[in-house]
Amino acid sequence: MKVQVLLPKIFDFPFTYHSNQIPLKIGDLVEVPFGKKNEIGVVWKNNHSDLKDVKIKNINKKIKNYSIDKKLVDFIEWFSIYNIVPIGLVLKMTIGIKDNFTKKEDPNIDLIKKKVKSFKLNDEQNNALKYLEINNNKFDVSVLQGTTGSGKTLVYFERIKKIIDKKKQALVLLPEIFLTNEFKSRFEDFFGYEPAIWHSKITPKKKRIMWKGIIENKIKLVVGARSALLLPFKNLGIIIVDEEHDTSYKQDEGVIYNARDMAISRASLEKIPINLVTSIPSVETYNNIQTKKFRHINILNRFNNYLLPKTKIINLNINKKKDQFISDETINQVNKFLKRKEQILFFINRRGYAPYLICKKCGLKQICSNCSMYLTFHKDKNKAICHHCLFERSIKIECKNGDNCDFIMYGPGVEKIFEEVKKNFPNNKINIFSSDYMKKKNQADSLFKKINNNKVDILVGTQMISKGFNFPKLNCVVVIDADFSGRGYDLRTTEKNIQLYHQLSGRAGRFSSESLIIYQTLTPKDSTLNELIKNKSEELLKNELAIRKKNKLPPFTRLIAIIVFSNQHNLSILGAKEIKKQLQKIENIEIMGPVDSPLLKIKKKFRSRLLIRFNNKDLMQIKITKLLKTLKISSKIKLTVDVDPVNFG
Ligand SMILES: [Zn+2]
Ligand SMILES: [Zn+2]
Repeated sequence: MKVQVLLPKIFDFPFTYHSNQIPLKIGDLVEVPFGKKNEIGVVWKNNHSDLKDVKIKNINKKIKNYSIDKKLVDFIEWFSIYNIVPIGLVLKMTIGIKDNFTKKEDPNIDLIKKKVKSFKLNDEQNNALKYLEINNNKFDVSVLQGTTGSGKTLVYFERIKKIIDKKKQALVLLPEIFLTNEFKSRFEDFFGYEPAIWHSKITPKKKRIMWKGIIENKIKLVVGARSALLLPFKNLGIIIVDEEHDTSYKQDEGVIYNARDMAISRASLEKIPINLVTSIPSVETYNNIQTKKFRHINILNRFNNYLLPKTKIINLNINKKKDQFISDETINQVNKFLKRKEQILFFINRRGYAPYLICKKCGLKQICSNCSMYLTFHKDKNKAICHHCLFERSIKIECKNGDNCDFIMYGPGVEKIFEEVKKNFPNNKINIFSSDYMKKKNQADSLFKKINNNKVDILVGTQMISKGFNFPKLNCVVVIDADFSGRGYDLRTTEKNIQLYHQLSGRAGRFSSESLIIYQTLTPKDSTLNELIKNKSEELLKNELAIRKKNKLPPFTRLIAIIVFSNQHNLSILGAKEIKKQLQKIENIEIMGPVDSPLLKIKKKFRSRLLIRFNNKDLMQIKITKLLKTLKISSKIKLTVDVDPVNFG
């Protein structure tokens, strides 16, 4: 009998094999000869038109006891269609590496039992739990909202516990950065064992052990970053997407997809509930709450009933001295907190020392030779570095009269602020928190320990710090440069700002009644900033939705970006124009562009963009895929398709 076998490779179709008397059903894992090698594939549906069955070979064998569920087969298919990704690449995310099928003896995944601490939900948490549990046995999207410190995690932990007690599996998705020791210890205290953690950086051995545990239904609860979404769960009972608003759920490279949205699709196909958790929802989710597509419950009070932080705007136009980025007023305020032995965070969203270098003698600008990007000066390395391709250049460059260039450094980076803070508070313990200083995992952990033990007075940090970390004594946050001007090209700039500053203010005053957020800014009258300080993030989302509706932007329409790359600028533009001409054959879509990417050149490749817009009730992906497949694309250009783009750089 002929069967279709899908292989975890770049192909967008299954291959035909003879089953050779082996009884097989859809979803069974099999070993087949492919080229000169044997590959592991999955028995697939017989509904593909472009079958390549020139020379039909026999299936070698069935992989005993391993199969994936029909519901997962459907999900893989949907994932591939929706995101315009070859289906084989999606399967690869499910069945993983070949190593998963070796006969290596692995240690048992019996979980080490630890002592469970007892937790008691307060009334608000209990009500939320009851509300969420109304639909525990069918597809249902609910949103659990609550300010930082309101105890949302405990609510969903309770919900999960009951579901896995019924022998079902549960998946908790977190943005990668949230897999902190803090989360782990809270998890262990609650469940009494270590979480099974899945993300791209765990070792192949660990992946193999976990993968087997999941497909054999021995691991009941997985905590993972976005790639955990395609794991071969046998009996999934619930998905939790914590911090659903976090844009890092969108994978921008390789297989491009949005893990939050795809999680909803998987829950729908599995016919199970999914719980989105957030302190302030994304614009899409907010819209779905408003239109009652998602159920929603809000925990209003912080766990200890502490008030939200007070806010203060400092106008840098009047208060800033030359070559100084921290105003005197800020220094006065910070001193009050230091006197009370409380912690302060200085926040600046820029790595390095200075973002622009210009020679004052010859006017030379330090620009990356691979990307259209300014190089950022990093003082610790004494080099100018590109944040896109990691290109490095010395700042000793020969100037016109035979001496070296004399660079002026414009704008502050986190290192510069660190220096200025040290100068202003010479008697305090000050630490820097930026990805450049947290290359090794234990560096971050040991810094957190220091902060928690009160061995740090002031922390100077980048965006990394705005997420998920709780510091008990942190009661004052200083935003060095609250900039709402945006850069004009990103429809999500406002949303990103709302999220960023909302998260940031959540860092302060978790365990105190008096806390303060200081916004230093050059635009003190900006409306977004002023709404934000009134804690009116939801009003901002409402405004943002109105603007999106007026401008026919998502979630009211759907966008697909096509990015054309080439070593030559004229070729990327020409390629994009040609693709546009072809796409115009499709009815009911609007094609914008081509335009140069705002970052025209990255890693030596020029990039031109097309943006397709259509009614979000139509699944135009099928027509677009069909058309793209017929294109004869020159080998000198490459293209990437990004469905529901989040970044427009
Ligand atoms: Zn570069
Ligand atoms: Zn010069």
